[in-house]
Parts: sequence; structure tokens; C-alpha cells
Amino acid sequence: MKSPLNFLGTGACFNISKGNTSAFFKPNEKTIALIDCGENIYEKIFKNNLLTNIENLVVFVTHMHSDHVGSLPSLLFAASFMSNIKNVSVVCECIDEMKLFLKICGNPKANLISCNEFSGTYGIKCSSVPAKHGKMKASSYFFETNGNKFYYSGDTSEINLEAVKLLKEHKLDCIFHEATSIGYGIHTEISKLEKVFEPAIRNKVFCIHISNDNDEKLFISKGFNVPCHFFTKNINLSQ
Ligand SMILES: [Zn+2]
Ligand SMILES: [Zn+2]
Repeated sequence: MKSPLNFLGTGACFNISKGNTSAFFKPNEKTIALIDCGENIYEKIFKNNLLTNIENLVVFVTHMHSDHVGSLPSLLFAASFMSNIKNVSVVCECIDEMKLFLKICGNPKANLISCNEFSGTYGIKCSSVPAKHGKMKASSYFFETNGNKFYYSGDTSEINLEAVKLLKEHKLDCIFHEATSIGYGIHTEISKLEKVFEPAIRNKVFCIHISNDNDEKLFISKGFNVPCHFFTKNINLSQ
């Protein structure tokens, strides 16, 4: 199945070749919504001219690990210098931590807002649920936009059973779930995903936050999906 999200990267924190896991969607012509903005995401946004003709920039943040927020300050500073960008929102449930992080980084302008408060803006319906990711405050998100309904796990060691149920009842189109072969108690082992998703529906489960190529091959061999990278062929990160 085709992914409703465009992925700028699908890697885990140390996976340089696949880049930080981050994706975007455009609920309308003037709006771009990004999910997470790790260390190497800012560069990809600008190399792909993703902010051209955009008036509303929204960044959903799952949690404060640097592979998810590392280049967010640069993105926000750059957006503040672009005359076409009128509104910048950072949607998260870790607003105090985000405020402090942005303050330390020089206080780029952004409207910090919780998911519930933001939901309904620019044609994006969303809700957040707590994720379990070690001691880090982390969120997973349900989205409804452009006729697509999907769930995005972010980093988590637990599978949200409501999301599983909704997928099985055809009330979600697909799930984006982090996956790994070794979870170290803070990530989701592929064996856990195998237990809750029978083979017939695994093509609706996109594995993200992938540690290495062997893991990716393993997930595909078990019938799970993995997202393609947006414009991969046009990006030469060595330039
Ligand atoms: Zn991560
Ligand atoms: Zn993390």
C-alpha cells in the first residue's frame, strides 16, 4: 500500500545511511506538517525546497531525543527569516522541556501547543497518547487528514492496542511503528509486532526507526512494510 506520509528518513539514532526518522504531509497547498526534526532533517527540508510557497509550518514532536529534535531550532530560525511563512506551530506534550530547549538554543519563534488544542487546525485532526520510552516523556499520535487515518508510534517499547484494534476494524488505513531486532527495553522488538499483527495485515504496518539494513530485510521478510524515502534519488548529501 502507498504511504500517506512522505519520509525524509527512516533510521534509528545511529543509522547514518537512512537518516533520522521523520516524515511530512501536506493537508493543503499552503501547509506542511512535519513529524519530528532530528539532526539531519533541516538539511533535507531545504535541499528539497519543502518550504517554498508554504504559509503554515507545523512540527509534531514525539519526544526530546536529539534524533527527533536535533535540527528543530535551525528549522524554526530559518522559517522566521522566510517572508512566505506566516505561522509556525510546534505540537507536543512536552511543552516545558521544549520551551527550555528552544530558550537555550536562542529562542526561535514558534507557537508551542498541545495536540488536543491544535487538533482541527489546517484540516488536521489529531490526538496524542503517551508512549513508553524509558524515562523520556514521549507521545504517539493518531492523525486524520486528507481522507487518510493513520497512527504514528514515535519511539516506544509498547504497542498501542487501541491502534491495533482500529487497524483490524479498518478504522485506520495504516500504522507507522518503530521496530528493532533488539529493543533494550526502550524500543519495540519485531517479535512483539509479529504477535499482534497477523501476516495478512502486515503490509499496512510500516516499520520505521530502523537500526540497520539487516533489520530492514528481516522486517520485510516477515511481511511488514517499510516506507520509501522522499526524493531519495535527488538528494546527494555529500554535496
Ligand atoms: Zn529515536
Ligand atoms: Zn528516543
